[in-house]
Amino acid sequence: MTTPIHRLRKTRIIATLGPSSNSAEMIEALFNAGADTFRLNMSHGDHADKRALVKAIRKVEKRVGRPIGIIVDLQGPKIRIGDFKGGKILLKEGAGFRLDMNKKQGNTKRVCLPHPEVFEILKPGHQVLLDDGKVRLEVVENSKTTVDCKVLVGGALSNRKGVNIPDAVLPLAALTAKDRTDLDFALEQKVDWIALSFVQRPEDVAEARKIIRNRAGVLAKIEKPAALTRLTEIVEISDAVMVARGDLGVEAPLEEVPTLQRRIIAVAREAGKPVVVATQMLESMITSPVPTRAEVSDVATAVYEGTDAIMLSAESAAGKYPVEAVEMMDRVARKIESDPNFHISSIDDRARPDATTADAISAGARQVAGTLKAGAIVTFTTSGATAVRASRERPVAPILVLTPSLKTARRLSLVWGLHTVKTRDVAGFEEMIAKSRRMALRHGLAKAGERIVITAGVPFGTPGATNVLHIAWVTGDELDDENDD
Ligand code: PGA
Ligand code: MN
Repeated sequence: MTTPIHRLRKTRIIATLGPSSNSAEMIEALFNAGADTFRLNMSHGDHADKRALVKAIRKVEKRVGRPIGIIVDLQGPKIRIGDFKGGKILLKEGAGFRLDMNKKQGNTKRVCLPHPEVFEILKPGHQVLLDDGKVRLEVVENSKTTVDCKVLVGGALSNRKGVNIPDAVLPLAALTAKDRTDLDFALEQKVDWIALSFVQRPEDVAEARKIIRNRAGVLAKIEKPAALTRLTEIVEISDAVMVARGDLGVEAPLEEVPTLQRRIIAVAREAGKPVVVATQMLESMITSPVPTRAEVSDVATAVYEGTDAIMLSAESAAGKYPVEAVEMMDRVARKIESDPNFHISSIDDRARPDATTADAISAGARQVAGTLKAGAIVTFTTSGATAVRASRERPVAPILVLTPSLKTARRLSLVWGLHTVKTRDVAGFEEMIAKSRRMALRHGLAKAGERIVITAGVPFGTPGATNVLHIAWVTGDELDDENDD
């Protein structure tokens, strides 16, 4: 089995599934176009839909013979207004508007905000943003059950529109009752990642971790200003983070989003935590087979900034051109990665190794592979931790990850530069070398006459720190062993 060239792309692609892509055929087409990981969004649909999708993804995984990651994205504590008499209203700039706890249908004077906690923290001067910030209110007066606002930016408002309150840390639990049910479901389905929406504090992530107990990776979505004030701690306690530009661009001024993206990527890269850039990357492809120049440039920027993964939302879930959108991301990412300046710039802002054997070996492997122009770096890992550190070094050579754990193989599918293969563990040094040569050839990562740089932990079979760095030649005489799966 050789690997198609696009699989040697280093930046990973995540495609959200939805009505436009919820069949096994579409999932396979998206995978073949370059999607490495699929996202299931719990804000839409029910458990039966999601169960069918997990089943379909696993079927495709079997057919294509490559590990595929699945992210379940929990809705999180999203607050919404109630309903209006007649379904919608028009709010005029400068008018007064009240939010209260009265369940009666709303009108142009008031609407229900069925979240008692919110009334405790809203104070005069705070902004209340409705419908992705299209309508803006400012609090003028508040009581325990009402807030009177002035309309700063008016517009149409309809039933159950979302509410963003960027100015305060909301006293909301990290996981709602719905999130807990969805989380149990996701763990039962053995998905690889759980994405947490509207994380505000590191404690929110800690609470989810306690339930998840490493049965899945925990991906914190950074989309609230409150999370930015404790970003380093949140990154530290998470397994990965997302620059969730949709809500981030509502809660923070839009012009701050590019700088925040850079900052989140930099903090995640320093900590060696995978980072995903998400939302509106190819937005116009929801309805058009070609993106705008600005969108192509946006994808390119994220890749240049060293993000691990780029994500499609509505483009692949509800758009007209899901496959074309993945193909476009794949083409842009490969083009940027082939720019000689790509690696020079990533060397410039490479995170310095920590004083651990794993980092020393990873940094060494990158340097040796660079000097020898080795075909690949081969990393043996059980938990995946060493592979993530190897990726953090951002080497020019692809990293072939050999792991006996299918769970690890799947989880690593959103990490930069890793080509992961689930395979039986090796028992000795000679076997380690033979298997590395064979797998590098089989997966098209090294050619005859090239060298590979191998890292592993000895003694074999005992999980522990990586402590071996070995250089081997790929001769082309390696016999592929059909039984080595
Ligand atoms: P969402 O998260 O699509 O679940 O809202 C991503 C974002 O806000 O950018
Ligand atoms: Mn969001």
